[in-house]
Amino acid sequence: MTKKRRAALTLKKLYQKYSKYPQTGLKNWETPWQLLFCIIMSAQTTDDQVNEVTKKLFKRFRTLEDFANSDADKIGTAIRSTGFYNSKAKYLQKSAQIILKEFKGNVPRSIKELIKLPGVARKTANVYQQVMFTRSEGIAVDTHVARMSQRLRLTQEKTAVKIEKDLMRLFPKNRYHRINPILFWHGRTICVARKPQCEKCELSDFCPNAFKY
Ligand code: SF4
Repeated sequence: MTKKRRAALTLKKLYQKYSKYPQTGLKNWETPWQLLFCIIMSAQTTDDQVNEVTKKLFKRFRTLEDFANSDADKIGTAIRSTGFYNSKAKYLQKSAQIILKEFKGNVPRSIKELIKLPGVARKTANVYQQVMFTRSEGIAVDTHVARMSQRLRLTQEKTAVKIEKDLMRLFPKNRYHRINPILFWHGRTICVARKPQCEKCELSDFCPNAFKY
């Protein structure tokens, strides 16, 4: 079976199943910039950890101006438990300043503009787009997406950038924004890292790695 066929079958079998699942596990955000800041903070930590921090963070720092005009140290203290907090605090402060100054207080929409913001790489930009809009320019590759893509032999690549390129060749453009959530939730619930539950998996009749773990 070709990779393209496996990709099409994966989409067909899982699309409906995860259609009611959230586009992200991040909570406590109400505005576009709050969502973007949650995604920036989620690097190298879990969504749950970020959700714990943002319960208080957005009550203390209510506006972009609050972040832009605050001491990075104060922001760092407030987000300490997300790890790498000194860098993340500077990213939030500088991003707030740039959004206010260069984008009139509105988070930019394109990947080209989004990645100009400190702390925003391509994956962050893709996640932002897939949650905010019903489209994304690319496919966000996190640890679950990478593992599932490799197990389904949709890619042999190891880095997120190269895996994304392979996936973008296999899936239709108008579905890019759904690929990350589908593979993320399936990877978190069925095709888990240590012992995938192939006996419960809808993809087992064509997955090249079914029942091999
Ligand atoms: S069949 Fe097993 S290895 Fe393949 S995608 Fe499903 S759970 Fe993962």
